[in-house]
Amino acid sequence: MAAMKSICLYCGSSNEVDPKYIALAKDLGKRLAESGYRLVYGGGSVGLMGASANAAHEAGGDVLGIMPRFLLTKERIFEQVEHRIVDTMHERKQMMFDESDAFIVLPGGIGTLEEAVEMLSWARLGLHSKPMAFLDVDGFWSPFFELMSHIVKDKFTPAEFLEQFAHTNTPDEAIEALRVRHIDMK
Ligand code: AMP
Repeated sequence: MAAMKSICLYCGSSNEVDPKYIALAKDLGKRLAESGYRLVYGGGSVGLMGASANAAHEAGGDVLGIMPRFLLTKERIFEQVEHRIVDTMHERKQMMFDESDAFIVLPGGIGTLEEAVEMLSWARLGLHSKPMAFLDVDGFWSPFFELMSHIVKDKFTPAEFLEQFAHTNTPDEAIEALRVRHIDMK
Protein backbone atom coordinates (compact mmCIF):
# COMPACT_ATOMS: atom_id res chain seq x y z
CA MET A 1 0.00 0.00 0.00
CA ALA A 2 1.19 3.52 -0.84
CA ALA A 3 2.21 5.97 1.91
CA MET A 4 -0.45 7.98 3.69
CA LYS A 5 -0.60 11.36 1.93
CA SER A 6 -4.09 12.81 2.14
CA ILE A 7 -6.28 13.01 5.21
CA CYS A 8 -9.99 13.65 4.94
CA LEU A 9 -11.51 15.80 7.65
CA TYR A 10 -15.13 15.63 8.80
CA CYS A 11 -16.15 18.43 11.16
CA GLY A 12 -18.86 20.87 12.12
CA SER A 13 -19.98 23.80 9.99
CA SER A 14 -21.54 25.82 12.84
CA ASN A 15 -20.07 29.20 13.75
CA GLU A 16 -21.92 29.26 17.07
CA VAL A 17 -19.75 26.76 18.92
CA ASP A 18 -17.42 27.26 21.89
CA PRO A 19 -14.07 28.74 20.75
CA LYS A 20 -12.27 25.68 22.15
CA TYR A 21 -13.59 23.68 19.19
CA ILE A 22 -12.45 26.27 16.66
CA ALA A 23 -9.03 26.34 18.34
CA LEU A 24 -8.74 22.55 18.01
CA ALA A 25 -9.67 22.74 14.31
CA LYS A 26 -7.02 25.42 13.70
CA ASP A 27 -4.41 23.43 15.56
CA LEU A 28 -5.21 20.34 13.50
CA GLY A 29 -5.03 22.23 10.19
CA LYS A 30 -1.64 23.63 11.13
CA ARG A 31 -0.24 20.27 12.27
CA LEU A 32 -1.48 18.51 9.12
CA ALA A 33 0.30 21.09 6.98
CA GLU A 34 3.49 20.96 9.05
CA SER A 35 3.48 17.16 8.87
CA GLY A 36 3.18 17.27 5.08
CA TYR A 37 -0.34 15.87 4.73
CA ARG A 38 -2.89 17.21 2.27
CA LEU A 39 -6.19 18.15 3.86
CA VAL A 40 -9.30 17.00 1.99
CA TYR A 41 -12.53 18.48 3.31
CA GLY A 42 -15.99 19.77 2.43
CA GLY A 43 -14.76 23.07 0.99
CA GLY A 44 -16.52 25.55 3.28
CA SER A 45 -15.21 28.61 5.09
CA VAL A 46 -17.59 28.31 8.06
CA GLY A 47 -17.22 26.68 11.46
CA LEU A 48 -14.50 24.13 12.15
CA MET A 49 -14.28 23.42 8.41
CA GLY A 50 -13.14 26.95 7.60
CA ALA A 51 -10.88 27.18 10.66
CA SER A 52 -8.94 24.02 9.83
CA ALA A 53 -8.65 24.69 6.09
CA ASN A 54 -7.52 28.27 6.66
CA ALA A 55 -4.90 27.19 9.20
CA ALA A 56 -3.58 24.46 6.90
CA HIS A 57 -3.40 26.89 3.98
CA GLU A 58 -1.65 29.57 6.07
CA ALA A 59 0.90 27.02 7.24
CA GLY A 60 1.71 26.22 3.58
CA GLY A 61 -0.18 22.93 3.33
CA ASP A 62 -2.12 21.52 0.38
CA VAL A 63 -5.89 21.68 0.77
CA LEU A 64 -8.64 20.25 -1.45
CA GLY A 65 -12.22 21.38 -0.82
CA ILE A 66 -15.19 19.53 -2.35
CA MET A 67 -18.52 21.32 -2.29
CA PRO A 68 -21.94 20.53 -3.73
CA ARG A 69 -23.32 23.42 -5.81
CA PHE A 70 -26.41 23.93 -3.66
CA LEU A 71 -24.29 24.63 -0.56
CA LEU A 72 -22.04 27.24 -2.19
CA THR A 73 -23.83 30.17 -0.55
CA LYS A 74 -24.55 28.51 2.79
CA GLU A 75 -21.10 27.06 3.46
CA ARG A 76 -19.25 29.78 1.53
CA ILE A 77 -16.57 27.98 -0.47
CA PHE A 78 -12.99 28.75 0.56
CA GLU A 79 -11.71 30.13 -2.77
CA GLN A 80 -8.02 30.42 -1.87
CA VAL A 81 -7.44 26.65 -2.01
CA GLU A 82 -7.96 24.03 -4.71
CA HIS A 83 -11.66 23.23 -4.85
CA ARG A 84 -14.09 21.17 -6.88
CA ILE A 85 -17.79 21.77 -7.23
CA VAL A 86 -20.02 18.72 -7.56
CA ASP A 87 -23.76 18.24 -8.03
CA THR A 88 -24.80 16.13 -5.06
CA MET A 89 -23.91 15.20 -1.48
CA HIS A 90 -23.23 11.68 -2.67
CA GLU A 91 -20.65 12.89 -5.20
CA ARG A 92 -19.04 15.03 -2.51
CA LYS A 93 -18.70 12.13 -0.11
CA GLN A 94 -17.46 9.74 -2.79
CA MET A 95 -14.83 12.23 -3.99
CA MET A 96 -13.70 13.00 -0.42
CA PHE A 97 -13.31 9.25 0.12
CA ASP A 98 -11.50 8.64 -3.20
CA GLU A 99 -9.04 11.49 -2.60
CA SER A 100 -8.06 10.35 0.92
CA ASP A 101 -6.03 7.66 2.68
CA ALA A 102 -7.46 8.14 6.17
CA PHE A 103 -10.05 10.18 8.09
CA ILE A 104 -10.11 12.51 11.07
CA VAL A 105 -13.40 13.39 12.73
CA LEU A 106 -13.52 16.61 14.77
CA PRO A 107 -16.53 17.68 16.81
CA GLY A 108 -19.55 18.35 14.63
CA GLY A 109 -23.27 17.95 14.16
CA ILE A 110 -25.48 15.55 12.27
CA GLY A 111 -23.59 16.07 8.98
CA THR A 112 -20.27 15.16 10.57
CA LEU A 113 -21.78 12.15 12.27
CA GLU A 114 -23.40 10.97 9.04
CA GLU A 115 -20.16 11.24 7.07
CA ALA A 116 -18.09 9.45 9.73
CA VAL A 117 -20.61 6.67 10.26
CA GLU A 118 -20.97 6.09 6.52
CA MET A 119 -17.21 5.58 6.19
CA LEU A 120 -17.24 3.23 9.20
CA SER A 121 -20.12 1.26 7.73
CA TRP A 122 -18.26 0.91 4.42
CA ALA A 123 -15.27 -0.42 6.40
CA ARG A 124 -17.56 -2.82 8.27
CA LEU A 125 -18.78 -4.13 4.88
CA GLY A 126 -15.17 -4.67 3.79
CA LEU A 127 -15.33 -1.99 1.09
CA HIS A 128 -12.20 -0.26 2.39
CA SER A 129 -9.72 -0.37 5.26
CA LYS A 130 -8.80 3.31 5.55
CA PRO A 131 -8.32 4.20 9.23
CA MET A 132 -10.25 6.84 11.16
CA ALA A 133 -9.40 8.90 14.25
CA PHE A 134 -11.92 10.87 16.27
CA LEU A 135 -10.21 13.95 17.70
CA ASP A 136 -11.89 15.95 20.40
CA VAL A 137 -11.59 18.12 23.48
CA ASP A 138 -13.36 17.54 26.81
CA GLY A 139 -14.65 14.14 25.67
CA PHE A 140 -16.99 15.47 22.96
CA TRP A 141 -17.08 12.07 21.20
CA SER A 142 -17.17 9.92 24.39
CA PRO A 143 -20.93 9.23 24.07
CA PHE A 144 -20.30 7.85 20.57
CA PHE A 145 -17.62 5.50 21.92
CA GLU A 146 -19.97 4.46 24.74
CA LEU A 147 -22.63 3.67 22.15
CA MET A 148 -20.16 1.60 20.13
CA SER A 149 -19.11 -0.35 23.28
CA HIS A 150 -22.78 -1.03 23.98
CA ILE A 151 -23.30 -2.23 20.39
CA VAL A 152 -20.26 -4.52 20.68
CA LYS A 153 -21.30 -5.80 24.13
CA ASP A 154 -24.63 -6.91 22.67
CA LYS A 155 -22.78 -8.55 19.76
CA PHE A 156 -24.17 -6.49 16.89
CA THR A 157 -20.63 -5.62 15.81
CA PRO A 158 -17.44 -7.62 16.57
CA ALA A 159 -14.97 -6.09 19.03
CA GLU A 160 -12.14 -6.26 16.43
CA PHE A 161 -13.96 -3.64 14.39
CA LEU A 162 -13.23 -1.06 17.10
CA GLU A 163 -9.53 -1.29 16.23
CA GLN A 164 -10.22 0.42 12.92
CA PHE A 165 -10.84 3.76 14.63
CA ALA A 166 -9.25 5.64 17.52
CA HIS A 167 -10.34 8.20 20.12
CA THR A 168 -7.63 10.89 20.41
CA ASN A 169 -7.08 14.21 22.21
CA THR A 170 -4.43 16.07 20.23
CA PRO A 171 -3.76 16.54 16.51
CA ASP A 172 -0.41 14.74 16.81
CA GLU A 173 -2.07 11.81 18.59
CA ALA A 174 -4.70 11.62 15.83
CA ILE A 175 -2.10 11.70 13.04
CA GLU A 176 -0.02 9.04 14.82
CA ALA A 177 -3.08 6.81 15.35
CA LEU A 178 -3.80 6.96 11.62
CA ARG A 179 -0.15 6.36 10.70
CA VAL A 180 0.09 3.24 12.88
CA ARG A 181 -3.19 1.82 11.57
CA HIS A 182 -2.25 2.64 7.98
CA ILE A 183 1.06 0.76 8.35
CA ASP A 184 -0.77 -2.20 9.91
CA MET A 185 -2.96 -2.43 6.82
CA LYS A 186 0.05 -3.14 4.56
P1 AMP B 1 -22.54 19.53 10.48
O1 AMP B 1 -21.72 18.58 11.29
O2 AMP B 1 -24.02 19.22 10.53
O3 AMP B 1 -22.22 20.97 10.76
O4 AMP B 1 -22.13 19.26 8.96
C1 AMP B 1 -20.79 19.20 8.60
C2 AMP B 1 -20.64 19.06 7.12
O5 AMP B 1 -21.28 17.87 6.70
C3 AMP B 1 -21.26 20.20 6.31
O6 AMP B 1 -20.34 20.53 5.28
C4 AMP B 1 -22.49 19.56 5.72
O7 AMP B 1 -22.78 20.11 4.46
C5 AMP B 1 -22.04 18.14 5.54
N1 AMP B 1 -23.15 17.20 5.44
C6 AMP B 1 -24.33 17.21 6.09
N2 AMP B 1 -25.08 16.16 5.74
C7 AMP B 1 -24.38 15.49 4.82
C8 AMP B 1 -24.62 14.33 4.03
N3 AMP B 1 -25.75 13.63 4.13
N4 AMP B 1 -23.64 13.95 3.18
C9 AMP B 1 -22.51 14.65 3.06
N5 AMP B 1 -22.21 15.72 3.76
C10 AMP B 1 -23.12 16.15 4.63
